Amino acid sequence: MRKRLIVSAASALSLFLAVPASAADFQPGAAGVGDPYYPTYGNGGYRVSHYDIRLKYQPATDELEGTTTILATATQDLSRFNLDFALNVSEVRVNGRTASFATSGEQELEITPARPLAKGSQATVVVRYKGVPSTVKKYGFTGWLRTPDGAVAANEPESAWWWFPSNDHPSNKATFDISVQVPDGNQVISNGILTGTSSQAGWTRYSWRENKPQATYLATLAVGKFDVTTDTTASGLPVYNAYSKDLGENADAARASVERTGELVDWLSGYFGPYPFSSVGGYVPNVPTGYALETQTRVFYSPRQFAKGANTSVVVHELAHQWYGDSVSLSRWSDIWLNEGFARYSQFLWSEHEDEGTAQELADYVYASHPADDPFWTVKPGDPGPQNQFANAVYDRGAVAIQALRNTVGDEKFFQILKGWPTERRYGNATIAEFQAYAEKVSGQKLGDLFTTWLFTAAKPAVGPVAKGAPAPAALAPGADQAAGRLPAEPKSWKKIQETNSVHDAR
Ligand SMILES: [Zn+2]
Repeated sequence: MRKRLIVSAASALSLFLAVPASAADFQPGAAGVGDPYYPTYGNGGYRVSHYDIRLKYQPATDELEGTTTILATATQDLSRFNLDFALNVSEVRVNGRTASFATSGEQELEITPARPLAKGSQATVVVRYKGVPSTVKKYGFTGWLRTPDGAVAANEPESAWWWFPSNDHPSNKATFDISVQVPDGNQVISNGILTGTSSQAGWTRYSWRENKPQATYLATLAVGKFDVTTDTTASGLPVYNAYSKDLGENADAARASVERTGELVDWLSGYFGPYPFSSVGGYVPNVPTGYALETQTRVFYSPRQFAKGANTSVVVHELAHQWYGDSVSLSRWSDIWLNEGFARYSQFLWSEHEDEGTAQELADYVYASHPADDPFWTVKPGDPGPQNQFANAVYDRGAVAIQALRNTVGDEKFFQILKGWPTERRYGNATIAEFQAYAEKVSGQKLGDLFTTWLFTAAKPAVGPVAKGAPAPAALAPGADQAAGRLPAEPKSWKKIQETNSVHDAR
């Protein structure tokens, strides 16, 4: 009797499974990917594998129009799904059929396909749109910067909304084709390789391709008049740099810095392993903003960073991100230390190389120059909060944390970790906890106390990042270094390091 019952239940189950999911089983995808800092960023229910962005842009009027085609895979049975986007949409098609759409919140585009998408199925989503991006503000902010001769899209964590619809979160990386038509005489700079240009009826089309996974905030677009230089690095990597023709007095210093990209990327490869992408370079548009951004393969620089002369430190910082941030990306924005701590630490290594202060001297200087009651120490680099995501502490304390790791595990293991991590996690996403586990595996040491002290405690650590072999300092009362006038001399590289700031200051 009992056996018979079981058989019946199994038959009923297989019958149930054989029935196709009804419309009621299809649910809308979430309006956010679940990031604790930015709950509405990204979306649920699907993953994008490729963006094909095809635009026409008029620099004189800032009018942008075009079509983005998205290749996605449903990760649940989807009745509806969202994209993140800020411009006006005129038409959406899903798998060839007209889809209905609506907007909500600051940047949500809700798409209801004519036929729901089954879990695991592929979808081709075509979005047609038009707008004047510089007039669109979201959260009182724009990621679209106008220049005297065009425009630039570069910001963090938001910049995609003003020029292409996307699943806007670094946890969903995809390949990109970016093709933009501009009036003859203008140029288009973007990520990856310039695969071709073509002219027709007064307009020139530039087609760029990034063939490695790229986070949406690392896609960039610049339109304007540029002087372009091209080269090949010693290791055979194509270099493409561009400088706005109207950089004025900052032009020479910008070139003296960015033209060293090839040399610096080869130098960084010695620490981080092979460069992960198929091209490299930077561009310097005439923007008034103060930040740079590690846009993938083609770094965005502000001329302001070169206002006091050449600054190779900023170039090192942004190139370090190609490994730490671009190839190995955040899983969520609270893990920003994995980007900025390591990019800042690469500047410490460069300083050491240039005899402008060792990494230890820089770490000692940061530690000593902030008294215990300085609000600097209240920011936890491992979880700074969205308002402090780009605070100095994430960079400076974040880099000191890395020096503390180096002193704890020793140089041999430390440099093994520094190179092994971006190699092992190439093109993926990661969390700080995963990095800690990796460092523990390589070093054979438990590092929980170290990470808690340096990354997750809102207070000045009682002891600085003591150099291996150096005598442990006597315990000092908070602020005692400063009170006793024992602040170490400012390392020569310090000001240039501080001029590098990937913070966007407009948000
Ligand atoms: Zn940075």
